Amino acid sequence: MTRRMPYWLVPIILSIFVPTGLAQSVSQLSDEARQFVSVEAPVVALIDVQVVDGTGAAPKSGQTVLIDNGRIAAIGDDVSIPPGAERLELSGHTVIPGLVGVHNHTFYTTSVRTSQMNVTAPRLYLASGVTTIRTTGSYSPYSEINMKRAIEEGEIVGPRMHVTGPYVSGPGASTMMTQVSSPEDARRMVAYWAEEGATWFKAYTMISRAELGAAIDEAHRRGLKFTGHLCSVTFKEAVDLGIDGLEHGFFTNTEYDPNKLPDECPPGFRESLRNLDVDSEPVRRTIGHMIDNGVALTSTLAVYEISVPDRPPLESRTLAALAPGARDEYLTRRDEIKKQADTSNSSVMADLFPRAQAFEYAFFKAGGLLAAGVDPTGNGGALPGFGDQRNYELLLEAEFTPAETLQIMTLNGAKVLGVDDELGSVSAGKIADLVVIDGDPVSRPGDIRNVVIVFKQGVGYDSKKLIDSVEGLVGLK
Ligand SMILES: [Zn+2]
Repeated sequence: MTRRMPYWLVPIILSIFVPTGLAQSVSQLSDEARQFVSVEAPVVALIDVQVVDGTGAAPKSGQTVLIDNGRIAAIGDDVSIPPGAERLELSGHTVIPGLVGVHNHTFYTTSVRTSQMNVTAPRLYLASGVTTIRTTGSYSPYSEINMKRAIEEGEIVGPRMHVTGPYVSGPGASTMMTQVSSPEDARRMVAYWAEEGATWFKAYTMISRAELGAAIDEAHRRGLKFTGHLCSVTFKEAVDLGIDGLEHGFFTNTEYDPNKLPDECPPGFRESLRNLDVDSEPVRRTIGHMIDNGVALTSTLAVYEISVPDRPPLESRTLAALAPGARDEYLTRRDEIKKQADTSNSSVMADLFPRAQAFEYAFFKAGGLLAAGVDPTGNGGALPGFGDQRNYELLLEAEFTPAETLQIMTLNGAKVLGVDDELGSVSAGKIADLVVIDGDPVSRPGDIRNVVIVFKQGVGYDSKKLIDSVEGLVGLK
């Protein structure tokens, strides 16, 4: 809490020098935040690195990236480095834009616990190279509103945050969610959280068309946006109601179920997806309808993968980060999934997973705006940040190239959030949110985990120190 300028000066300085309101120099950080800083010079040269710039362009080696007072000043193989710059010789390293995670909750679940992670979530996201998040459904909106402010004021470290209001669902939904039962309810709920600082809203599986339409309209009237994890409303219906995004893709579209009734979530609808050809006319129509109406899609492969038997490979860093109880709950559920699949000799999720990957590939190739996020829920095996990194491997498995995959995870996320003029790619003039990776994730995907420094607005944070600080605490606080 020390070393801060007087409150009355902050808004004046922000408004004069940084119209985006994203200023943050080391001198503004609290002592707690400062302990994670590893690079604080105002001018820094990252020398002899491979750059994957986030635009989908091919990787380039032998590059120098120059950071000057929070912005990317230059990139190239012949950048002149000003005297006084801090020179980091980084041959063998790769620089990518800070990841933009658009389904990145600050809570976490296992099959038996829900934990609002005000301490570990922001640190793990930043440590893993995720410098911007949209929370995409909140269980504790005030935690997120306060977390966002604490990060912006330098009290704690974490990503830039786009806070979402509470989940909007219908009667019979989880007791953690807003259950609206009239269009007026829906409007009132959106209006309240818009005033409190939410900039996105997310509908959930039990909402009806009338309430969803009213909620979207109220958000749009205020210049805010709306996405959904749907079931009772189909993708086509939601697109026609004006929704801006759809979460999870193939796993959540009920319009192919022959038993679908209006405004009802058909139980067991995933069976209808099991043998559906992703290249069929109905699926192509869904994709075309989304693209024609500018609706973005969020890929959340990492959270679905944990329901596939024997996946993902267990990582020791994940087990070390989890609180002992959460670790046991995750491993127990993982075992049960495997046993169920062995006993029945089948797994719906194993059948659906490659189809979901193919759906995302087809959407992207048809010109759709595909972004990604971890969604650290389900049975607890996809952790904040670590799961975003796993998404990189899962999108490669879906046959995206490394450059396309990073575009999905960076610039496309920035486009969804409307911040791509300032963030999302390694481009001269943009804010210096950059990730330095020891190794080459283009030829060795697993290297995406070897993050050493994460720059946010030109300030470098020590990834290892951040991860060490949450050991045994994920699922707890
Ligand atoms: Zn979610």
